[in-house]
Amino acid sequence: MDSSEKTSKPQTIATIDVNIQFPNFSEMNWNEEALYDHLHCCLCGSELQFHHKANRVQNFITEEASCPSCKIKTRESAHTIQ
Ligand SMILES: [Zn+2]
Repeated sequence: MDSSEKTSKPQTIATIDVNIQFPNFSEMNWNEEALYDHLHCCLCGSELQFHHKANRVQNFITEEASCPSCKIKTRESAHTIQ
């Protein structure tokens, strides 16, 4: 291949295959959409796993959401026990 040759056509030098599942949001109402966002990974769409840790001394529960596919923690929040 002659490296001095100018080409005006874009070339594919690498491709990355990803497995992304797009839900059909047009058929969801805002409530279902918010719930979907809460329960699914923002990167790959997998169902999140939730872990809860109760802190009875300070009266709150820590909720951790993680994606089993991406192996990342997507969210952590604390809720007061009533
Ligand atoms: Zn994920």
